[in-house]
Amino acid sequence: MKLTILGSGTVVPNGERNSAGYFVEAEGVRLMLDCGAGTVPALARYNVEWESMTHIFLSHFHVDHIGELASLFFAFRHGMQKARTAPLTLIAPRGVERILYHLKEAFGEKLFTPKFSFDLIEVEPGDRLRLTHDCLLSVAKTPHTAESLALRLDHQDCTFAYTGDTAFHIDLARFFQRADLLVSECSFQEAKEGATHLSIAEVARLASQAQVKKLVVTHFYFAVEEAALQSELQRQYHGEIFIGRDGMTIEINR
Ligand SMILES: [Zn+2]
Ligand SMILES: [Zn+2]
Repeated sequence: MKLTILGSGTVVPNGERNSAGYFVEAEGVRLMLDCGAGTVPALARYNVEWESMTHIFLSHFHVDHIGELASLFFAFRHGMQKARTAPLTLIAPRGVERILYHLKEAFGEKLFTPKFSFDLIEVEPGDRLRLTHDCLLSVAKTPHTAESLALRLDHQDCTFAYTGDTAFHIDLARFFQRADLLVSECSFQEAKEGATHLSIAEVARLASQAQVKKLVVTHFYFAVEEAALQSELQRQYHGEIFIGRDGMTIEINR
């Protein structure tokens, strides 16, 4: 499997970081995770095979994760170089129908009728979905919004995981157990009372308790000092650490 970071930022305008978006490629699967501002042009900038994308997964409905969904579907309707017949499947938390309904109201009925077949699958915590015969997607609840989900993708003997947005919860450490690579949000430098996001120390604790092999931190609400961030994470987590940047690609293997 291979990960490309399309957006390592949040909703805060940042010249170097788009809002949240990732692209994961495995045999037979080309999956876009979240679709925040800037991630649609990033599909071309970072040369991923977006026209043959097989799945889109939305972790939750905050604007930094779905703000460019209409543009993505517009691109599928009007911006394709090659024709495709293969279906595209949108996987999202329950409630996505309401979002699509309102986007159609705003941008026109044809928006979500690309010229190839398009499926919608609503998922809820605990659901497991087979994407191909050897690729299994699972989702778990995250304490962030009512609908927010984390994702785990098991492909052959290799596992990719993504926190979406979340506060710390021990159940997530179980859900991510022994993943080969975890992409974790890392919103704040310090833990905040009642926060619905992770601090640096909480990310390290989560990755350490989950015993993940590699950790990618992303979704920063603070100005990142890479060396300082790296050493703070290393206090509690002893696997390989990547400080996420837009355009970064990482091979995921056992
Ligand atoms: Zn959020
Ligand atoms: Zn977010």
